[in-house]
Amino acid sequence: VGIADKHQFQAETQKLLHIVAESLYTEREVFIRELVSNASDAIEKARHMQLTNQQIMNDDVPFEIRIGTDEDKKTLIIQDTGVGMNKEELIRNLGRIGYSGSGDFIKKLGENPDKASIIGQFGVGFYSCFMVGHTIKVYSKSAAPGSTGYLWESDGSGSYTISEADGVSRGTKIVIHLKPNSYEYAKKATVETVIKKYSNFVGFPIVLNGTPVNTIRPLWTLSKSSITEEEHKQFYQFISKSYDTPTYRIHFSTDTPLSIRSLFYIPSQHVEKYGMGRMEPGVALFSRKVMIQQKAKGLLPEWMRFVRGVVDSEDIPLNLSREHLQDNGLIQRISAVLVKRILKHLQDESKRDPSRFETFMNEFGGFFKEGVITDFKWKDEISKLLRFESTAELPPTEDLKPRTTTTLEEYVSRMKPEQTHIYYITVPSKSVALTSPYYEPFKAKGIEVFMLYNTLDDFVFSNIGHFGDKKIVSVESKEAEEFLAANQEKQTDTLDQAEVSAFLQWVSDAVGNKIAMAKTTSRAISQPAIVVDHESATFRRMMKMMDPSKQ
Ligand code: ADP
Ligand code: MG
Repeated sequence: VGIADKHQFQAETQKLLHIVAESLYTEREVFIRELVSNASDAIEKARHMQLTNQQIMNDDVPFEIRIGTDEDKKTLIIQDTGVGMNKEELIRNLGRIGYSGSGDFIKKLGENPDKASIIGQFGVGFYSCFMVGHTIKVYSKSAAPGSTGYLWESDGSGSYTISEADGVSRGTKIVIHLKPNSYEYAKKATVETVIKKYSNFVGFPIVLNGTPVNTIRPLWTLSKSSITEEEHKQFYQFISKSYDTPTYRIHFSTDTPLSIRSLFYIPSQHVEKYGMGRMEPGVALFSRKVMIQQKAKGLLPEWMRFVRGVVDSEDIPLNLSREHLQDNGLIQRISAVLVKRILKHLQDESKRDPSRFETFMNEFGGFFKEGVITDFKWKDEISKLLRFESTAELPPTEDLKPRTTTTLEEYVSRMKPEQTHIYYITVPSKSVALTSPYYEPFKAKGIEVFMLYNTLDDFVFSNIGHFGDKKIVSVESKEAEEFLAANQEKQTDTLDQAEVSAFLQWVSDAVGNKIAMAKTTSRAISQPAIVVDHESATFRRMMKMMDPSKQ
């Protein structure tokens, strides 16, 4: 074994080490994620060599990541059987920031108070272990046949040494001598929790103190046909920490313009209806099977918080910090692709099996209504999925199951030729709707009317506003009144003009300022008179809500 060479870190690297040691990452535990993903990358490279018929050293040694904790020695060891590094590679890769424009990088860091976002664009991977370690030893041996083993060692303060070392096997072994404030990482339980959190799906076995920890296959990266139903169920229950069977599954990948591997599950039930409070987002963000954020915000819109699953994109830098995910342009672009695919899938499902979809909507419809109100971008697509009761006799589904709700699209397909609007009535119950004087003239003409039973639905309808070129209006609206007047049956008037005027005058005087005006109408059929209001019912209710004296 030769004498240790002493090397200075590049000036920029020294500054960076300082920043890292002061803990840029919001959670220090991510150093484990960084080292495990480096180990996985190194094994991937070795496997690639093997697959392309290049010789690797000790090719009988299995590809795996071995992690060992030692509470007495206060050390954490992470070892892989990957490509390893020779002396030049140790100097090049660990002696400086591994990218050409490092000077610019530091300059940007200096100028920008928002350091985490800059770091996110580059990456400090390996150096993150200086957050927890006072001394780091890296034993490495390149996979190239005939290589020598080396020990790289540093206390992170300005220099490092490299010396030849005996007994080093193929790959890299990193020994972290923990700082007193980081002794927890010498505990098996702590390390295991962190591995399960971030690195559960790394493609090679992770063996912690002799036992494999990552036993679940990363289903989203596999081909659909290679996954069994049972595996899906287990995976879903694992990621969602629940015990139901999901209603729908959406598994898709894209390569351009973005690389996305995703797998979503839509549960069969949710807890918000029990008043358990607002659910957190249920989709985790990964980059190459390594978790970036567990409950990723901004990946799907808020109203889709009931969706569980995984999104993996190689385009996402591994250490993009949490705070900056949400307003990241890349995330927004990924989100647009995801939302479109999920909505499309649900639209297909609603046609493929309407009664199943109806059951689903009975449980989850509230989220979609929230979507119509809050998510302007997807409002039109969401409104295609909504289902409401209507006065039409709905044909049973193909498998003869009865249906109680219908979509706007189906409604439009049943519209009368003379009909230009979509009508709804807001009532406390179906029986009230069917006997309502407002519905009566529509019923007489055989025109279907949606029945809404609460203020939320009323608000949802006024938010949708239009479906295609059809305006959605209340049966109490001015548009409804005009439609009925234009389409009334010829009647033989029994009063002459003068008598009508005199009568209307009498009504006005009798009712006083409670009404704006009295006029003849074609809409009252079995009722002598009817009150109409040309503002929307929602508007009236909102006014009422704002003015307590009217409640
Ligand atoms: P990144 O992984 O983004 O390149 P890191 O700081 O995590 O940045 O690692 C720097 C470089 O060091 C890697 O690109 C790789 O070449 C080398 N390296 C780090 N860990 C290992 C390892 N376990 N085995 C082989 N090479 C490694
Ligand atoms: Mg790395």
